[in-house]
Amino acid sequence: MTVDVFVPQISVSVQRSTYLVQRMDDPFRVHVVDKNKTCSCGDPHCWSILAVADYLRSGGQRAPMGLPACPICGSETFPDRKWDGKYTKQPGWRCATGGIGHFLQAKTQRIRQQWAENPWLIPPASGYPGVRRDELMTWQECEAAEQEQHQSTKSQVELEVQ
Ligand SMILES: [Zn+2]
Ligand SMILES: [Zn+2]
Repeated sequence: MTVDVFVPQISVSVQRSTYLVQRMDDPFRVHVVDKNKTCSCGDPHCWSILAVADYLRSGGQRAPMGLPACPICGSETFPDRKWDGKYTKQPGWRCATGGIGHFLQAKTQRIRQQWAENPWLIPPASGYPGVRRDELMTWQECEAAEQEQHQSTKSQVELEVQ
């Protein structure tokens, strides 16, 4: 004897670091389940969360690790290769709410914190005063100074030509 149980077909797919879950009998409602097992619909016991667990248990594709939430406002972040750290190797990103502004704000905070924790680029030793990080110009300041010098040299040359 078979018992007819209505089991709606469920589709689970990976999008970035989340799982999109749809029921075939309700295809227009999409539940987005993230890695913390929370569903976008707000129901902490949403069936979608179980569906994702089932999907993974049966060998479904695992969503890649997403970028952490924006440290400034907690919004979602998107990768932005243009801002990948050349030296720090930290991935660049953009905030869904604050854009590149929040990335730069977070970066500035991190640099400030590093300076506060370790202000010495070269710590002092006996007979050597050491070099503090803030004694060195940032590259922006360097560039500005260079441009200024270039400008004044140019106007000097122009004066000499006249
Ligand atoms: Zn849900
Ligand atoms: Zn943000």
